[in-house]
Amino acid sequence: MVTFYRRLPKMGYVKPGSLEEALELLEKNPNGRYRVYAGGTDVIPKLKGRVIQSPEILVDLKGVSDLDHIDFDEQKGLYIGALATVRSVETSPVIKERYPILSQAAGSIASIQVRNRGTITGNICNAVPSADSAPALLCLDARVLLYSKNGGERTVDITDFFKGPGLTVLQPNEILREINISASPENSRSVYIKLSPRSRMDLAVVGVGVLLTKTNGTFRNVRIGLGAVAPTPIRALKAEAMLEGSEVNDDLIINAARTASEESRPIDDHRASAEYRKMMVEVLVKRAIHQCL
Ligand SMILES: Cc1cc2nc3c(=O)[nH]c(=O)nc-3n(C[C@H](O)[C@H](O)[C@H](O)COP(=O)(O)OP(=O)(O)OC[C@H]3O[C@@H](n4cnc5c(N)ncnc54)[C@H](O)[C@@H]3O)c2cc1C
Repeated sequence: MVTFYRRLPKMGYVKPGSLEEALELLEKNPNGRYRVYAGGTDVIPKLKGRVIQSPEILVDLKGVSDLDHIDFDEQKGLYIGALATVRSVETSPVIKERYPILSQAAGSIASIQVRNRGTITGNICNAVPSADSAPALLCLDARVLLYSKNGGERTVDITDFFKGPGLTVLQPNEILREINISASPENSRSVYIKLSPRSRMDLAVVGVGVLLTKTNGTFRNVRIGLGAVAPTPIRALKAEAMLEGSEVNDDLIINAARTASEESRPIDDHRASAEYRKMMVEVLVKRAIHQCL
């Protein structure tokens, strides 16, 4: 597939200095007149390729101070600000230690140059089914904090955030301010495996995240997140239920991996056929569970 890049379409540009200023602008945003962006690594190529409609005004969030934080607290868990770059999430010592699946997923995105610019928030707000951070955030039961003018605030579970390809529950007047993740269950193991035709700089054909704990020979706290195999990133809930509380054994793992594959609803596209994707879900879920054990 060839993408032709042209100049950016004509539009206005503002760079608010505070979240309040940005939210004030978005309040006058009836028909998507304003579009916020952070790193621009999704939005700018799409605008140049005329893949998305150009807004009247682009709102550059990079001028907003105090939004690039990565804070951890034993009780409240992890908070990732909207402007924290993919690279800072990948390399954060606390994320590497406490949430290795997220560090791995971040490290699998694009190149270091793109990761230095792009944000984890942009990765999920973009809402492509293949977003690499999504299976990890699903496994970690993340929540997103959405803000609007005059103190408007709501928290949405990541499982409810994605609505379809390119669609989320975000309203035109809202900004995703933070991602929050509770402390992981004790002794949990987790892994993200990305399959893409080229080893680097390509989107996932299949992305699989698994998080679990093994307690007295049984599976506990099982989470399986899948990317690029449904209209949105999904949890393989039936496969999780098969494993949860059951004794660890090979036949069960094989059956659960097959069930996860059956739960996937991939499409054929230029990257891979639906059939191949389904087969690879089975292979990778099995591999990811074994790696966690
Ligand atoms: C060469 C290249 C390779 C890539 N490879 C990968 C890859 O391997 N895996 C992958 O998953 N992605 C990949 N991407 C896509 C992209 O880099 C990532 O999705 C990145 O994390 C996007 O972050 P950003 O801050 O640049 O998003 P932006 O482009 O700034 O924004 C993306 C979307 O999120 C919205 N948005 C951003 N911030 C907010 C906010 N705080 N509140 C509300 N809405 C917001 C914007 O309106 C826009 O719709 C690649 C991109 C390029 C150019």
